[in-house]
Amino acid sequence: MKTCLFCQIAKGKIPKEFVYQDADLIAFEDINPIAPIHVLIIPKKHLEGIQTVQRKDQELLGKMLLVARKVAEKEKLKGYKLFINSGKLGGQALFHLHLHLIGGWKKPNEYNGWVKKRLREGGVV
Ligand code: 5GP
Ligand code: ZN
Repeated sequence: MKTCLFCQIAKGKIPKEFVYQDADLIAFEDINPIAPIHVLIIPKKHLEGIQTVQRKDQELLGKMLLVARKVAEKEKLKGYKLFINSGKLGGQALFHLHLHLIGGWKKPNEYNGWVKKRLREGGVV
């Protein structure tokens, strides 16, 4: 996928510091964070999104969750959210599968403020 931004990042063609990497996955900070900590976990291989993954990708999908937990532990997050936007109507803007990890709030209800700010800015949560 020549034109895919996340493929370019995964191949190291766009300089980017990874917060995690192994043979299958990389994780890096979101350019427009919606939380104090906002990391994207992506497979190195191009998969369009959760809507098209296949049974052979099961292990990779499970690994994405465990890597998200590992990053959350590394960032010392006491609580966090994980989500995947699927399709344009689900708020997916980049069609290379990515798992969002957001957290870093200090109080239980702090998340709401961040989401409201994001909505005011016209962004997709
Ligand atoms: P989606 O809406 O597809 O679930 O999420 C795409 C995410 O990618 C957004 O949160 C957006 O801020 C992030 N993003 C878009 N372009 C870049 C980029 O060039 N670098 C990084 N690190 N994140 C990006
Ligand atoms: Zn890609």
